Amino acid sequence: MTVSPIYRKCRLCPRACEADRLTGTGFCRQGAYPRISGFGLHRWEEPCISGKNGSGTVFFTGCTLACCYCQNYKISQQNLGYSLTPKELSRVFNHLQDIGAHNINLVSPTQFVPSVTEALELSGSYLKIPIVYNCGGYESLDTIKMLEDYVDIWLPDLKYFDDEKALRYSSCHNYFSTAVRAVERMQAVAGSPVYDSEGMMKSGVIIRHLVLPGMRKDSLSIFEALKERIPPKSVVVSIMSQYLPLHRAKSFKELSRRVFTYEYRYVLDGILKLGFEGYSQDRESSCEDYIPEFTDSKPDFDRL
Ligand code: SF4
Repeated sequence: MTVSPIYRKCRLCPRACEADRLTGTGFCRQGAYPRISGFGLHRWEEPCISGKNGSGTVFFTGCTLACCYCQNYKISQQNLGYSLTPKELSRVFNHLQDIGAHNINLVSPTQFVPSVTEALELSGSYLKIPIVYNCGGYESLDTIKMLEDYVDIWLPDLKYFDDEKALRYSSCHNYFSTAVRAVERMQAVAGSPVYDSEGMMKSGVIIRHLVLPGMRKDSLSIFEALKERIPPKSVVVSIMSQYLPLHRAKSFKELSRRVFTYEYRYVLDGILKLGFEGYSQDRESSCEDYIPEFTDSKPDFDRL
């Protein structure tokens, strides 16, 4: 199997480690062969993505961030998953469409973009459903450019305004300036949201933001700055309240609790006043039952 030369001196994300991923790894801990930890129909995404049948999620192993509170830390930071070829990845995509997925939802795929585009090429015109690029917002413009002909719906996080917080909690330098530039590019590529007759998104940008304890002012600063760059109604926002002090979060006293209702309301009301529209989340969603099952057992691909 040939491997993309991009993996030989990797600059796929803004960390630009220049690691040779054929012989070693960079910050994301991943080599040159795609790894995933599961795939299936997922019903807990935004309604315009999940619909009746569910979103066809594919969870990629590794991450270009290292959030201390990551609910998927077993796959993002502890390498749970199994390797597969681009051909097998293409079969996963086709299978998800066959079982009724409304879209193919690539979760944390940044570190494997050349393999993802190769798999999408192999699926070719068989795939009729939208491709969703679901990422942490920390993206390089060159990698977005590689994806422009493949992705229909961009689903980035915007996590922090304050770069010191991004460094403390996600080990990431220059988060906001990098992520907001990426979001601006995604919006320019996708245009304003387009829906089908059943309200399912066909193309556009959905910006996710998870409200963190004690950080309501930082949350609002993100959207105040975003409004200066793009018209609020040209994107959809999804403001999440599901924060739980998982993984290493308890080593930071200020992150050791859930978000208070008044904090979430403060952020939500402020964002709506700025003119953004989209989704809020029930407080009951703040529960570990909503975290998907992951695996390192590779399924029998001949049965897909
Ligand atoms: S994708 Fe991984 S190896 Fe490549 S630049 Fe980013 S962190 Fe480094």
